[in-house]
This record gives sequence, C-alpha cells and structure tokens, in this order.
Amino acid sequence: MANGDKRDYYEVLGVNRNASDTEIKKAYRRLAIQHHPDKNQGDKEAEDKFKEINEAYEVLSDPQKRAQYDQFGHAGLGAGGFSGGGFGFGAGSPFGDIFGDIFGDIFGGGGRQRTRGKRGDDLQYTLDISFEEAAFGVEKQIEIPYSKRCDTCSGSGAKPGTEPKTCPTCRGAGQVRFQQGFFSVSKTCGQCNGEGRVVDNPCPSCRGTGSVRDRKTLSVKVPPGVETGNRLKLAGEGGQGLKGGPNGDLYVLLSVREHPLFTREGNDVVCEIPISFTQAALGCEVEIPTLDGRVSMKIPEGTQSGRVFRLRSKGIPVLQGYGRGDQLVVVKVETPTNLNKRQREILEEFARMSGEEVQPMRKNFFDKVKDILS
Ligand SMILES: [Zn+2]
Ligand SMILES: [Zn+2]
Repeated sequence: MANGDKRDYYEVLGVNRNASDTEIKKAYRRLAIQHHPDKNQGDKEAEDKFKEINEAYEVLSDPQKRAQYDQFGHAGLGAGGFSGGGFGFGAGSPFGDIFGDIFGDIFGGGGRQRTRGKRGDDLQYTLDISFEEAAFGVEKQIEIPYSKRCDTCSGSGAKPGTEPKTCPTCRGAGQVRFQQGFFSVSKTCGQCNGEGRVVDNPCPSCRGTGSVRDRKTLSVKVPPGVETGNRLKLAGEGGQGLKGGPNGDLYVLLSVREHPLFTREGNDVVCEIPISFTQAALGCEVEIPTLDGRVSMKIPEGTQSGRVFRLRSKGIPVLQGYGRGDQLVVVKVETPTNLNKRQREILEEFARMSGEEVQPMRKNFFDKVKDILS
C-alpha cells in the first residue's frame, strides 16, 4: 500500500531512463528551485512535491540505489528505512545533505545567517489488533516515546542563566563554504552542527541537546477492513522538530492477530464447520459463527465433505469503500469412530442395503481392482 501509489522516480524528475547523472542533477535542481518551500510558504502541495522530488533524486543520484530501483522498482528500495517491530527512528527527510550541497550557493548566499530548523524524527509504532477490530475498525490509545523541546532551557541547550554563544568556526552562519569545481559549496559546520551557536555550559536536563525524551498518549482511529501490514500515518505526531523545523510523522503499522475460527481471503472470511456423516447424509440445520454473531444455516441432504456455502455480506467490510465480503463456510464431514456394537450392526445393515459387501473389506477392495484391470 505504501509503495503502490508512488510515482515513478524518472517521471517525477521528468527525465528518461537513460538519463546521465548530469541530466538528473540538472532536472532535480530546476524542479527543486521551483518547488522549494522557501518560495512556496505554507503551500502543502508544493511541500509534498518537493519531498517527492528529493526522494526521487536521493535514489537516482546514487548508482547503487538507482540500479536497484531500475531492476525492482520501489519494492527494491525496502520499506523506507523502517524496521519491523516496535519503534524505528527513521532518517527524517532527505532534505538535509543533498539540499545543503546543491543549494548552498543559491539560497545560502552571502554569509547571511540562516536558521535552519531540523525536522523531527519519523516514528513507527506496531499496533496489534484482533481479527474483529480489523474487520470493523477500532479506536485505540497508544503511548509512544518521542523527543520534545527541553523545558528547562527552552530548547537552547544552555544551562539556565547562561546563553549559547556564536560558533567561532562558522561565525554563526551554521555553514562553512569551500570551492569545488565551479561550485561554491557550503557544508554544515561540524562544531555547531549547523546551528551557528555553541553551548559552553550545557543544560543539565537535556545535556545541551535542547530536547528531551518523553512519552505521549495518542488516539488512533483504525478504519474498518484493514489487514496486517497496513500503515496509518499520523502527520506531525512523530518527534518534535527543532529550531522551528516541522515535526516528524508517526506511522502506525498494523498487525492483526489470528482468529481461532476465521481466516481471511481478501474480504471474505473463511471458516470450517464439522458435521457428522448422518447430518451430511440426511441434511440438517447448523449454527454458524460469523463476525456478526451466530446465524442458522441449512445443510441440504447429501452434502459432500469439502462443499463450500456462501453467506452473503458476512465478511470483512471493504477498506475505504462500500459493502462487505462474504463468509465461506467449508463443510467437513466427520467419519464416526469408536462405534458400539449396535451402531456397527446398523451400519453394516446400511451397507448391505446399499449393495456393498461388508465382510471382508480387503477382499472387496482387491476384487474391485481386479474388475477394473480385467
Ligand atoms: Zn535543556
Ligand atoms: Zn558553527
């Protein structure tokens, strides 16, 4: 679901599949300038577009990633850096380095101090839900750890009563510049990590980082019809952005527990119902468990084992759609065991009446084989 709706990266950058690195870089540069958030303040569409462009460039500018993408498409690139269980702290946005490299000379310009916020971490939370909750939706409270601004120092990282001072290496610019070929390239300052300021007396609560770990409780609305592997995105509920940067997002990965009676096939619910061979032969009415409680179902006489009955609209609601799947009831006819004497006599009589030779069974079987072969 995450990968299915992604646009082709070449299409995103508007280049063909054989494009050279230079062509890709050029296309990226042109699009990124056009859709840059600084030029489109508050425009959600431009921001999404910019992210998409960056993601495409991140892959196509890396020979190894590009080769993987060419061969396997989006699936070749894994699940976006998230790991399976519990929390993953993703790499945040791909803006960082690429952006700094290419745009240093365009936007960084003239030693002007830019306070660049840091986007908060993306978080992933794995949420276990029951089969029924997946079918009908549920609202769950989850508690997640995240990083937030330190209250003691108001995020400055400096011990209360002291002030951070201007970074001596970059003189507050947050960037150091150097010449590389035609480009004047700027790089994040190593001493202050691009913040332009350094702390001599670190805040005791956050050890100078300006942020502390905390936990928060969130309400998650799981829509009806979800299945294991579906992810819900809670925009802005990830780690807190620093220095005015946006918050990260929280991804809730759903894991649906197995049900003792039901399995799922698409939007259909499948269950197996055991009936006795007399019920199968004579017909009967049986109670069938469904997601909506028990319903009564008629088994017609002469039902064979393995026959499937369909209960319309008793299945899983269609995710973000209308209607429901069906329930498929698979009948398993059970052969009676541990017959008592009387039961055995009756069955033997039944067999004779059906024209079967009862004793001895083995001979009967071999006779039949002989008949077929002769
Ligand atoms: Zn602090
Ligand atoms: Zn610095």
